[in-house]
Amino acid sequence: MVSFTFDDFPRTARYQGGDILAMQGWRATYYVAAGLMGIENHHGQSFHATDVQQLHECGHEISGHTYSHLDCAQSTPEQVIAETKRNTAALKAMGVDTPIEHFAWPYGTTNAAHKAALAKRFKSMRGVSSGVHYGKADLNLLKSTPLFSGPETDEALSLLQGLKKKPGWLIFFTHDVRANPSKWGISGRDFGRVIAAVKDCGADVLPVGKALEKLEGHYG
Ligand SMILES: [Zn+2]
Repeated sequence: MVSFTFDDFPRTARYQGGDILAMQGWRATYYVAAGLMGIENHHGQSFHATDVQQLHECGHEISGHTYSHLDCAQSTPEQVIAETKRNTAALKAMGVDTPIEHFAWPYGTTNAAHKAALAKRFKSMRGVSSGVHYGKADLNLLKSTPLFSGPETDEALSLLQGLKKKPGWLIFFTHDVRANPSKWGISGRDFGRVIAAVKDCGADVLPVGKALEKLEGHYG
């Protein structure tokens, strides 16, 4: 099983990301930091409210991040909870009419107190360390493999090859999808190579929430 996820997110993650996946009949998970709406940063132009709305209508999964992209390692659990509440409210105001059930830790940083605080609010929380889940997963810190142009693309392709021999759950994450991507983004060409490799390995492609439901059905 493979899940594609986009963090923050820049507009190219929709037009060159989720829209391209949807052409394969696949849907992605977007971990949205609502406070980044409309800004321009190193990932390019950030999402507009209509992007969130339309991705949601298309069946992509809108999920949580901290509102202002707050680094949880630098904050108290109370601050983190306040940020996630503010983020959820902002996503609702953008037209997301389903609960925000999944979360990604900005920068992948967290600690035991934060995990305990958010475990009551989210069904899963995702980090940024690479790897495949085989038969078990830490729902407070799911592994996630970067889809960045560079050596990370080769690593992603090799993990996909591995899924053919040993099935598991591989979650990818990236930011911008464009020619000349940032250090934390991927070119459309490399993204296309990954899509071809996913098709070749025959994995089911599901957003994180749907993948978890399927796993829970399987493992009880
Ligand atoms: Zn982020």
